[in-house]
Amino acid sequence: AKETGRNNFQFYTSEMNERALERLRIEGDLRLAIERDEFLLYYQPQVDLVSKKIIGVEALIRWQHPELGMVPPARFISLAEETGLIVPIGNWVIREACRQSKVWQDEGFIGLRTAVNLSARQFAQQNLVQSIQDALTATSLLPASLEIELTESLVMADVEQAIGILRDMKTLGVQLSIDDFGTGYSSLSYLKRFPIDVLKIDRSFVNDITTDPDDAAIVTSIISLAHSLRLSVIAEGVETREQLDYLQQHGCDQIQGYFFSRPVTAEVMTQMLRDGTRL
Ligand code: C2E
Ligand code: CA
Ligand code: CA
Ligand code: CA
Repeated sequence: AKETGRNNFQFYTSEMNERALERLRIEGDLRLAIERDEFLLYYQPQVDLVSKKIIGVEALIRWQHPELGMVPPARFISLAEETGLIVPIGNWVIREACRQSKVWQDEGFIGLRTAVNLSARQFAQQNLVQSIQDALTATSLLPASLEIELTESLVMADVEQAIGILRDMKTLGVQLSIDDFGTGYSSLSYLKRFPIDVLKIDRSFVNDITTDPDDAAIVTSIISLAHSLRLSVIAEGVETREQLDYLQQHGCDQIQGYFFSRPVTAEVMTQMLRDGTRL
């Protein structure tokens, strides 16, 4: 028993060392990734359930690491957040999403929205609104084409301050959405005071919508809540025809998920737009 214990100990130690090493390495490489131009954005289409057309895209960051290959955000966003690197990375994301969105706008895809994700650290940054303004000015993108996705925890941390920042963002003319809705601590009375346009239902509720009556009830409640506050509602993580049918029958406005398309490169996204791909 003693030996097993010792082996276990060694096992965990080396595993922990490995993890710590990977973390250090990723942190070091992350610092250089912007100047080495290793980040890129994938885009996942959002489709309208009435027109069946693509009405928006969500920009999702990817890291093309020279040795590790394509690194998904789950492996570096929280580290970027802890180290503060998320601020320059996030500014790059906003700028690049605006640049690409302007290319689509110039090609005639008017009304297409491009959504970007904001992290808590970025939200706390003093000159966030100015950076968004700068990106819009530098790219000449119509402000209404840009959508900013915020999470509940991000806006609930300091409600009064958040309302001020959101109002400033609305003054720029951008759209605002609440991401992963339903997973955080949300106070409905505050929700009414945030100048937001869209609620995104978290995919954990959408997943079992056709089999779990509780999840189905949550989703239908979010849809009616959104509509009573005159917000539009997007369901995330829609993977099956059954989920789609349920959401359509219950008045959901838009969907995003693997059923329609995985996140794709800007080139593939452009082709889908040109082809007029529909649901
Ligand atoms: P999120 O904002 O909730 O983005 C949606 C995630 O769900 C994406 O993962 C997307 O690929 C995935 N997804 C979409 N449809 C489906 C589906 O039908 N089924 C399943 N199982 N998954 C689906 P991804 O790209 O790996 O991003 C993960 C998270 O990383 C994002 O979650 C977001 O929180 C964060 N993230 C991504 N890009 C950025 C960024 O530029 N800035 C910041 N701050 N965070 C980002
Ligand atoms: Ca998102
Ligand atoms: Ca989400
Ligand atoms: Ca998420």
